[in-house]
Amino acid sequence: MMAHVSRWVLPVSQPPIQEGAVVVAQDRIQAVGPAKEILESFAGPVYDHGEGAILPGLVNCHTHLEFSALAGRVPPQKRWEDWVEATLAGFALLTQEEMKKGIDQGIQALRECGTILVGEVSNTAASWPHLETSPLAYHLFYECLGFDLWDLRNLEEALPFFTLPAVANAPWVSAGAHAPYSVSPALFRAIRAWNAARRRPQTVHLSETQAEGDFLARGGGFFKDLLQRRGRTVEGFQPPGLSPAAYLAGLDFLGPSTLAVHGVWLEPSDCDLLARTQTWLVICPRANRYTGAGTPPLQELLQAGVPLALGTDSLAGNWDLNLFGDLLWLYEKFPEYSGDLWLRLGTLHGAQALGRQDDFGSLEPGKKAALGYIPLPGAADFWGELFTAGAAGEFCWIR
Ligand SMILES: [Zn+2]
Repeated sequence: MMAHVSRWVLPVSQPPIQEGAVVVAQDRIQAVGPAKEILESFAGPVYDHGEGAILPGLVNCHTHLEFSALAGRVPPQKRWEDWVEATLAGFALLTQEEMKKGIDQGIQALRECGTILVGEVSNTAASWPHLETSPLAYHLFYECLGFDLWDLRNLEEALPFFTLPAVANAPWVSAGAHAPYSVSPALFRAIRAWNAARRRPQTVHLSETQAEGDFLARGGGFFKDLLQRRGRTVEGFQPPGLSPAAYLAGLDFLGPSTLAVHGVWLEPSDCDLLARTQTWLVICPRANRYTGAGTPPLQELLQAGVPLALGTDSLAGNWDLNLFGDLLWLYEKFPEYSGDLWLRLGTLHGAQALGRQDDFGSLEPGKKAALGYIPLPGAADFWGELFTAGAAGEFCWIR
């Protein structure tokens, strides 16, 4: 047993504690509170970390580690459509070796900036063995695509990955849907059925770009063209004439075990729908800027009561995988909200979205001792300073 004390302790599940302490035994938290109270009855070693803050490891709910090798190869774009074309072209040129090396570098970057748990989306499961042997906790979403799969009885029929015994037995693997413009209704239903039978979370990209809404409303535009080029069109396809969120609701794909990602182009009625169904929305605000997608409607989402978590998306579509950069961006862009809201999105909410709140997301007795420290010189702007230091890579793990 040992106690870690510092000027600040940020449990997330309760307000910041000035002069706080966290007692750790083996790999679990035993106690959290004011140092005065905690240390009164504590006889073990005490480590005073100094003037900064002890906080839980971050939860990044949306990455694509396979794209890490594209870091610096796809520049920021003004139009999302240009970004996706550049990313697809770049990915097609990657060798297996480059991809694997990128995955390891991505995992290392996530770890170094203070991430403890990651929601990873993968087309090939290439990142799975790398995550399995890394110090990161993870949930792997095996991403399914197939707009042309209109007659499908179950997931195994289309995707042999789901017939592997290792997949059925792995608790941290789910089926993920790519997006409403790339997944058929039958495939959405098969994904939902596979996950529901195993009580596992699922994910889908939602309303990342305006063209997605256009495609579902009228059946034309960028995605019609993309599907044509990829040979995935369906003869006689009738657009549902619904918003992407309403379309997913009709397929029974929304709910507390769904992590919808992005939500940049959600309308107020979509925000209400996500709130009503308690669907998680994983916002990736810096990635949305990088790819030219836009900015999610934060005020509307918060006002409607949509449960929010955070992700960075991939290194093809972001400057880095450091979630503190997103916390800082949100804090500066929306000064009407307190920084503890953003920290909660990047920790406890992410753990809840991935169903891992018993182990991660806050400093509470019984949870894993996944905590770190950020030094703070003590300026007037506590949260701004904390996020700036985190974004600058000053997070250190407490071991
Ligand atoms: Zn994504």
